[in-house]
Amino acid sequence: MPFAYDDQNIFAKILRGEIPNDTVLETEHTLAFNDIQPQAPVHVLVIPKGAYVCHDDFAANASDAELVDFMRVSARIVAEAGISPGGAGEGYRTISNAGAHGVQEVPHYHLHILAGRPLGRMLA
Ligand code: C5P
Repeated sequence: MPFAYDDQNIFAKILRGEIPNDTVLETEHTLAFNDIQPQAPVHVLVIPKGAYVCHDDFAANASDAELVDFMRVSARIVAEAGISPGGAGEGYRTISNAGAHGVQEVPHYHLHILAGRPLGRMLA
């Protein structure tokens, strides 16, 4: 079943420049910006510029160029924030909420990158 994309969602408005955002990094296919209500000292949202609703929509339907760009941007955010356990960082968490049970507020695919404090266990 195809995904129904609501082009009035707040991230679509950000991408059209209708409302501001605190940009961290922008590329041809991807935008990363600081979350307006940060849940940790580092809280960055990475979004594709294309109209994808959630993770599986993006993963199944985006082009290879969009997918690679998105992943590379997420890696650059982690590297530039100095939070990678592969470097001297203390680690981080990525989360993508989807749909009602995932408690997704904004129906444009986004990856949360959280870091800067112990984040606790999410899974029992
Ligand atoms: O994953 P979910 O859809 O629940 O999260 C949406 C996120 O978008 C929230 O963390 C919220 O603070 C953030 N947001 C934002 N800028 C806006 C509106 C929402 O960073 N203008």
